[in-house]
Amino acid sequence: MGARLGVLALQGDVSEHILAFSRALRATGEVDGSVIPVRKPQDLEGLQGLAIPGGESTTISRLVEKNGLFGPLVNFEGGIFATCAGMVLAASRVDDPRVRPLGLLDMAVKRNAFGRQRESFEADLAVRGLDQPFHACFIRAPVATATGKDVEVLARIDAGAVAVRRGKHMALSFHPELGDDPRLHAMFLERIFAGE
Ligand code: GLN
Repeated sequence: MGARLGVLALQGDVSEHILAFSRALRATGEVDGSVIPVRKPQDLEGLQGLAIPGGESTTISRLVEKNGLFGPLVNFEGGIFATCAGMVLAASRVDDPRVRPLGLLDMAVKRNAFGRQRESFEADLAVRGLDQPFHACFIRAPVATATGKDVEVLARIDAGAVAVRRGKHMALSFHPELGDDPRLHAMFLERIFAGE
């Protein structure tokens, strides 16, 4: 049976992640996978992986509660691929009380860590596990200011960790779904498929 993936579709750059997962499935040779939008707990059934996209973490957090998704996301058995606002939600501690973090990765996250002068920027990042740097696009990005010992840091800049992994979960400060480089989505999928 093909891979079954989802994208949390409450707010944010949902369609970009659906396209990016589809592209990464092709890159890994999984041609008959499906990628669905997730809005309610039942949508999570049978999924092997879920992206939590960028957007506004305070809004996504509120909608997670409203749609009864907090518990189901905490207990989700597949892998979570969290980017930007998604990384804020996936953390165990957040510097903004309006976000109720899911605690999927043991880390403290600071929202909008780069302030106004550097709201958006791009950087060629060395990422552990990739042969060549990844051209990363940061948009009002968070960073992880502290990580637990079971969290592997895949990339770091002066301000803190910007790519982390624990088991099947990955969280990134930047937006790998923008642009056409499928390597980080593919890295995520490899772990999911290997875990079966
Ligand atoms: N600053 C946003 C937040 O904390 C994240 C921005 C983004 O996802 N591009 O919710």
